[in-house]
Parts: sequence; C-alpha cells; structure tokens
Amino acid sequence: MSADEPASSGISKTGIETSESESSPVPPSGPSIVSVGRETGSQIECAHANVRSEANSSVGIPRAESTSLVDSRDAPTATKSVKQNYVPSGEILNLLETFRMMVNEAIRIGLDHDVTNMKRLSSLSYSQLSGYNCLSYYKKCAISRAGGILAARKKSITRGYPTKSHYAVKPHLVSCYGFKLANGIFELPLGRREYFEIPLNGHTREVLSEPGLTVRSFTLTASTVSLTISKKVSLIECVMTAGPDRNLRELTCGNGARVVKYNLSKAVRIADTTTEIISSFKRNDARIRKKIASKYGRRRKDRVGHLLNCVTKDIVRSAYESREAIVLEDIRGIRSLYRRGNGQGRRHRGRMNSWSFFEAQRQVEYKAAWKGVPVIHLTKAETRGTTTDCARCGERLQSPARDDPKHRRQLWCRRCKSWIDRDVNAVANQAARGRLRFDRSLSGRTKGDAGEAMKGNAEHDGEPLILRVDASKLIRWRKPRVIRTSWGL
Ligand SMILES: [Zn+2]
Repeated sequence: MSADEPASSGISKTGIETSESESSPVPPSGPSIVSVGRETGSQIECAHANVRSEANSSVGIPRAESTSLVDSRDAPTATKSVKQNYVPSGEILNLLETFRMMVNEAIRIGLDHDVTNMKRLSSLSYSQLSGYNCLSYYKKCAISRAGGILAARKKSITRGYPTKSHYAVKPHLVSCYGFKLANGIFELPLGRREYFEIPLNGHTREVLSEPGLTVRSFTLTASTVSLTISKKVSLIECVMTAGPDRNLRELTCGNGARVVKYNLSKAVRIADTTTEIISSFKRNDARIRKKIASKYGRRRKDRVGHLLNCVTKDIVRSAYESREAIVLEDIRGIRSLYRRGNGQGRRHRGRMNSWSFFEAQRQVEYKAAWKGVPVIHLTKAETRGTTTDCARCGERLQSPARDDPKHRRQLWCRRCKSWIDRDVNAVANQAARGRLRFDRSLSGRTKGDAGEAMKGNAEHDGEPLILRVDASKLIRWRKPRVIRTSWGL
C-alpha cells in the first residue's frame, strides 16, 4: 500500500457518533481488495447484526452462533475478502458517485478544521451531508471512509512521506449496513425498501460456504463487488518452524529437515515479455504509452499474482499439515539494493525490482492467519547473516569463484568442508532463528523437541533460572531433503 493510499486499519476500531446518536462500531472501510488483520471481538457483534441469520444459512453459511471452531472471545479473528465482477445499473452508478462526493465533502470538512478524530469529524460533517439523497447509513460510512483517508494522510505526513491528492477519485461505495445475502444473491439497499441484486458467482459462493464465516462489509466499485469476511480461528500448536526465502527465479521454503523449492522462472519470463511488448510500441505519445503500459502492467500483475497465489497457498497448506510456524524475514528497504547508482545495469535493476518482494509475504500472512498458522516476524537484527553463515556450524560461508559455473548458487563452508545450496542454507537459518524466538515466547513451558535443547534449567534458591536454549542442539543439522516443484511450466 503506497503512502498516500488510505489505510483502512486506522479507523477500524473507532466508533462513530452521529446526530442521530447511533453509535455502532464502524467497520473497516477502504479500497484495499484483500485486507488481513486481527481484530477484537467487539466488531463481530456489529457484523452479526447486519447479516440476517436466515440469509446466511441460505447461501450455505451456518449461523455464526453455531461455529464450533473457538467459543472464546479472545480467539483471534482472521479477515479477508472475496471479489467478483458485476454489471452495474444506472442507479448504482449514481449511488457510487454520490458516495464519492460525500467522502470528498467530509474530507474537505476534515481538512478545513484539521480533524482526523472520527467522532469530531462525524459531528462536524454529518449535518453537512444532509443535502445528499441517499440512505443515512451510507453517509456514516462515507464519513468513516473520509476519516480513514485523513488518518492515512496524517500518518504519511508524520512519517515524512509526500502525500498526493487526498480526495477519492473513483466512484465507490463501502458499507457494513443493510445488505443481505440470500440464495446466492447479494442484495444492496437503495432506499425505499428497494434492493439491487447481484448474483454471486461460483467462486464467491464456494468461499462463503466455509463454516463459521461472517460477512462484515462490502465494497462496490463500478465493476466489482468485494465482500469482507471474517472468522474466528484457533492457532494451531506448532512443533517446527519453516521460513520462505525468495530470489529471482525460485521461492524456497522449509527448515533444516525439509526444503521445498518453487520454480518461479515463469514470473521472470512474464516480466521480460511485458517489457518487450511495451518497448515494441514506438508511437511517441505519452497518453497512448501510459495506456499501453498500464494495460500490460495489469496483465503482468494478474499473471504473476496467480503464480504467487498457487505457491503461497501450498506453503501455508504444508505448514498447516506439518504443524510448522512460518518465519518471515524483515524485507523493508530491500528496494534500496537495486537503485540507480549502485553500479548495476539498467536491465539487471529492472529485473530485480520486478519481482514482488512484499506480495508473497502479504499472501503468506493472510493465508496463514486464515488457517491459524502462527507467523513469526524476524527483526533485521535476527535476520542478519542468514545467507552468509553456515546453518550447520555457524562458520562464515565463502562464495564460489567467478569462473566456477558448477557451484553458482552454492557456498563453501571451510569447517564442514562442503558446498551448501545458498537458498537451502538461508531457509534453514531463518527457520532456526524463528524457532529460537518461538521457544523463548513459550516462557518456561517446554514443548516438543525444544525441551531436549533446554539446558541449565536448574533452580536457584527455589526460583527457576531463566531458560537458556542451546542453539546448536536446536538446529540439529541433517542434510535437508530438497523437493523441487514448478508451477505451470
Ligand atoms: Zn559449516
């Protein structure tokens, strides 16, 4: 999400109070298509009230009360959304445009009074929106949306990022009120007891048929509708950790025992073809160039996104099945590795910057949250040396000579006297470091194999000493089994 794009999370927990003294919690609203997060239980109540339970059961969703996953209110809630296309009517397009104008009106009021506080913003702007002819709950949602945009703008300014236009440009509608789901049809209230019906496609119905789901809000654009769904998940108990590591042509995931390599060279091919196609158009007109570039850029994004989707789905599935927590490294600032002036060629930089560093992590994160697989985020300090230190002995590894094509993606360990695959080494290190963190977080409860690695667990004057972990025992190096898979090749 870019700096000037409004973030929905900034307002998700803020209540809104209008002149009608309705104070129901406002749902997360925003343009982001897939949003992931953990939220408190209080918002669920709101969503339950919105979607009629009989409507739920008619699309195959059991009543929310009957969810058997977790009854505890403390259980984390995973959120994602499902999106599909639809054909709008003239009335819907008018409604979208009205909503956009209301959002911009509220933004203008917020800017004039320098307000980002949701309560104050709604008390200032609700009466101003009375001139717009639409349902009052859409007005509340418009204010909430404006509050999100203003909060994101303020955050960007605080962080020192430049903000571009803060007004909503595209017509859209975000709401958590009044909609219905019945017999596979999404019904959108237009007022006067009239509804606009959108038939849901097979994919959306399939996603919604998962038990324990709550449909919380919807986002409508001129051609798409996305439904935000949430469910309570219970985190699985993990016995291992696994870390994904990405390079240009491969995504490697695993730990010291088992490593899977996903071949992503197709993504590189797609990026190369796109560059070739765009550069083949010679017409010297900025407007046409922009159109062509955005068209083929979108195509590339969709194709690579699909590839990554398959891979991340498999990573989360295998982590779930083998009860592994997923360890992610901190990749902030990775773009600075391939900047102009770093002594790399244009082509190389273009290529290295064309792979989606964050997209894979984002997909892994939300899919893991949905399945209840714990995700461990390593800090920069914890990630240090994962690629350069031997996972077996900790010795610093040496790169092969330039004229040694046989060991291109390998590193030499002096102490172990062997060549080690660069990526396998990196994921083994990453998983082991995540494991250390994981064991620390257990705070005294010994669990699984980690118990064997605990040492010095003696008592001193009746007080247990702080547990220390012997990392060398934790890692317990065996040569990992490497599995290679390729997608769509
Ligand atoms: Zn070694």
